[in-house]
Amino acid sequence: MRVNCPHCSTKAIITGSKDLAVNNIELYCQCMNTQSCGASFVFALEYKHTTQLPNQAPTPVTTE
Ligand SMILES: [Zn+2]
Repeated sequence: MRVNCPHCSTKAIITGSKDLAVNNIELYCQCMNTQSCGASFVFALEYKHTTQLPNQAPTPVTTE
């Protein structure tokens, strides 16, 4: 997964995550442009919809 800094558009790294729910995760990110930016920020990762159903034993989608 690629995340770009919202302040300078430089590539950022994901330094941590926090599960808010099964389908909703916060990603803690650090900008790699340490010379002129160095921002830390949080991205949200959220389930949208299924594009192909699982082959066996599907897990119901929860919508918390
Ligand atoms: Zn940046």
